[in-house]
Amino acid sequence: MIWDQIYIGTGPIMLLDASNETLKKKKILVLEKSKDIGGAWKSININGINNLENAVHYLLPNKDGYNFLEKYLKIPIKETPNKYYARSIYGLHLLIKSNSWLGNLLNKIERFDCLSIKNIFYLFQSLFDLSTKAKSKYPCQGSRKILERLRTIIENINLNIKYNFEASKIEVHSEFVRVSSSNLSYECKKLIISHGFVPPDKIKFFDKHIKIPKKKFPRPSLHIIYKINDKYKSFKPKFSQVLFSKSSCIKYTHELTQFLKSSEYTHETGVVVSALKHHLEDNINTRLRVIEELEKYNLIPPTKYRKETSFFWQDILLPLLENEDLQNIENSSKGSIKPLYTEELCSGIGNYQVNWKDLKFFLKHAKQNDLFN
Ligand SMILES: Cc1cc2nc3c(=O)[nH]c(=O)nc-3n(C[C@H](O)[C@H](O)[C@H](O)COP(=O)(O)OP(=O)(O)OC[C@H]3O[C@@H](n4cnc5c(N)ncnc54)[C@H](O)[C@@H]3O)c2cc1C
Repeated sequence: MIWDQIYIGTGPIMLLDASNETLKKKKILVLEKSKDIGGAWKSININGINNLENAVHYLLPNKDGYNFLEKYLKIPIKETPNKYYARSIYGLHLLIKSNSWLGNLLNKIERFDCLSIKNIFYLFQSLFDLSTKAKSKYPCQGSRKILERLRTIIENINLNIKYNFEASKIEVHSEFVRVSSSNLSYECKKLIISHGFVPPDKIKFFDKHIKIPKKKFPRPSLHIIYKINDKYKSFKPKFSQVLFSKSSCIKYTHELTQFLKSSEYTHETGVVVSALKHHLEDNINTRLRVIEELEKYNLIPPTKYRKETSFFWQDILLPLLENEDLQNIENSSKGSIKPLYTEELCSGIGNYQVNWKDLKFFLKHAKQNDLFN
């Protein structure tokens, strides 16, 4: 059998697009190397706590993207509350509200490499710009809500997904594309890939072997889970997101219990995840540096007030392919491989939702309450 389209990967945009094509009665297959959906947005379970965000996430501003999430997927989203810049000024460790005048100014100063006339003018302008930049938003219940909605849709439309299938060989022929794992092959008229696609070494375009360059952007990430000592019961994290300065070992930190249901963790538990500078490796020194940095800003309780502290390290890589690489693949395949540009979730949804007429019709007319309850 030749499938109309095969998608590689189960990131949210891929699943929404594949669902739309399935609703158009096309023969669609999704191949996924892991055993679950979600890609970069999947939840993880650590130390018996389920549904934790696997990384620091944002929905960058895009009106159409926000609209699709809220109106069609019925995902309540909100501006990130309590977002701060962590800055050390004359030995004082300050959390400065990101939407404040000072936060805005400090953030801009830090982006400049030098104090040129142009930069001084820009800074001067920003003194009057109290609106700050467009604010990012996030689902009230985190990425789990996105996953929950995707699961409901794919179950209801019977989307064909083959898990544990790693595409390790791709051959583009004039009539079809063959995708193979170590022991299985599928053929399709069109192959859909995206930013998160990890290209195999073996790719053949019309009898010619081509090696796709893979760029590596490491984004190590550290979850810290702790229990608060009874003597320090009053400690409650008062932040949602904190962005650190260039000189810190941390890029940003999120508080994660905000996305959990109260039944999923005890009141004495705290969980934070930090995205770290790209060169850092998992060792005791790195962990201590991160702990020290978080303690300085009171983002976790001091050591003496923590009963247990455990760590979960991930050597995350940001997508290996850039727009240009995806375009080259499309051109070399003479259009048999089509990329979806998924690098940013909210703008990707915003761009592609115009094509998802059948999916929108389905979501509008399937009894929403039955579908999403
Ligand atoms: C840690 C992390 C945090 C991020 N945070 C944000 C954020 O906050 N906001 C934002 O807008 N974007 C974020 N991104 C960018 C993210 O890449 C996009 O949001 C989006 O998830 C990309 O979708 P995708 O489907 O292309 O890739 P992914 O979501 O990465 O999914 C790719 C999927 O394809 C599968 N796969 C890959 N290669 C193969 C193969 N050869 N065979 C079979 N299966 C394969 C993988 O297992 C994976 O499930 C983040 C990325 C990472 C890695």
